[in-house]
Amino acid sequence: MHKIVIVGGGAGGLELATKLGAQLAKKRLAEIVLIDQNRAHIWKPLLHEVATGSLDTSIDAVVYHAHAAKHHYQFCLGRFVDLDPERRTLRLAAAYSDEGQQILPDRTLSYDTLVLAIGSQSNDFATPGVKQHCHFLDCAKQAEKFHYALLNQFLRINQSDQPQCLNISIVGAGATGVELSAELHNVTKLLKSYNMGNMKNEQLKVNLIEAGPRILSALPERISEAAKKELTRMGVRVREGTRVKEASSSGFITSEGETIDADLMIWAAGIKVPDFIKDLELFQLNHLNQIIVKPSLQSSISDDIYVLGDCCGFKNEDGSWVPPRAQSAHQMADKVRENIKARLANKVQKDYHYRDYGSLVSLSRFGAVGSLMGNLSKKSMFIEGHLARIMYVSLYRMHQIAIHGWAKALLVVVVEKIAKVVRPKMKLH
Ligand SMILES: Cc1cc2nc3c(=O)[nH]c(=O)nc-3n(C[C@H](O)[C@H](O)[C@H](O)COP(=O)(O)OP(=O)(O)OC[C@H]3O[C@@H](n4cnc5c(N)ncnc54)[C@H](O)[C@@H]3O)c2cc1C
Repeated sequence: MHKIVIVGGGAGGLELATKLGAQLAKKRLAEIVLIDQNRAHIWKPLLHEVATGSLDTSIDAVVYHAHAAKHHYQFCLGRFVDLDPERRTLRLAAAYSDEGQQILPDRTLSYDTLVLAIGSQSNDFATPGVKQHCHFLDCAKQAEKFHYALLNQFLRINQSDQPQCLNISIVGAGATGVELSAELHNVTKLLKSYNMGNMKNEQLKVNLIEAGPRILSALPERISEAAKKELTRMGVRVREGTRVKEASSSGFITSEGETIDADLMIWAAGIKVPDFIKDLELFQLNHLNQIIVKPSLQSSISDDIYVLGDCCGFKNEDGSWVPPRAQSAHQMADKVRENIKARLANKVQKDYHYRDYGSLVSLSRFGAVGSLMGNLSKKSMFIEGHLARIMYVSLYRMHQIAIHGWAKALLVVVVEKIAKVVRPKMKLH
């Protein structure tokens, strides 16, 4: 039977595995194998909520083995490290327990069709000290690590006899930096409900540092302005046009020589595809290590390999690259599904066209800002406040529908609402 291997069960890969499971594997037309280095999936745009404790991964994550069993595909735990396109095999590194004991050996898997959907990671642009001193929000583990560090700071300040401030500096004012800044203010406000009232919102000092002239530079100016206004109202210090040249154990040093003190530092300034893809020396890559693909989303080295999501380098007709966003991963997953099915039926491959439906940036419970693209014209409509917040949440709901189906997604939402009544508003452990 034709074997389709998907590497990466994120925003795009998991949706693809679910749909191909239903449309091919259930009818025994193909075997679908999903590989991921983690055991559970959490939708990446929610990681800033994991980092602040607004979201609990033990409740909200989708466990791959259980999901695979219900959706007719197989799940294989492993980290993809190497590829042989001629033999149509890929290699997974050995897996170890936290104690260093080997759980799974180094393995080689064969495929007939391969889909690479491994996403991206933060780009530190080789800035000295960043790897050693900064937190990143690339996966649930890193977000949880930041969460513990944040809780420890809250505890320290709450129990101190002297009033103290908590300085948090975030480099990069894209969606991640902006959403995290707002979420930090949200959870600090909740502390008094949990007997930690000595740590007050006024003691939280968030510096949002952006090298470019404005925050959310990839979005229309009006959105940047609205987000900046709201963040400033919350108490976030927005520092545009500030380039960081180094990170130390006590803060960031700017190119002007200023030190921005920080108890906690987060680096969220841009993305790149992990360097091992470059080290494979197989693919043609762009400046972010993204794999350059044909219009059908097939790699230029082999038609058996499709690439989607953040790790895919796709040039639009106007010469711009498709942005690394959840909506791009979702659209590409749909096109790859169509093209794989067409290939199995000996039909022609269709070209992918990116459609920008607009962008929304969450400002936690304080609202959201964003733009929606019109269907008839290319004009975008600016939205903010409660309506924008509803639209923002509905993006996650659409992902839940894609991976669970309507009925189960509805149940998941009901369970989430009930859990909100019985569990604390933020994760405190
Ligand atoms: C904090 C944050 C907020 C964001 N907010 C938004 C937003 O508001 N709107 C928006 O559109 N986008 C947002 N994004 C971007 C969005 O999350 C990504 O564009 C989207 O998740 C990309 O989907 P993907 O399927 O390509 O990769 P991912 O969703 O990142 O999935 C990649 C998967 O591959 C797995 N993997 C990686 N390497 C390997 C390997 N070597 N072997 C095996 N498995 C591997 C990972 O474990 C992961 O499960 C945000 C990102 C972050 C970090």
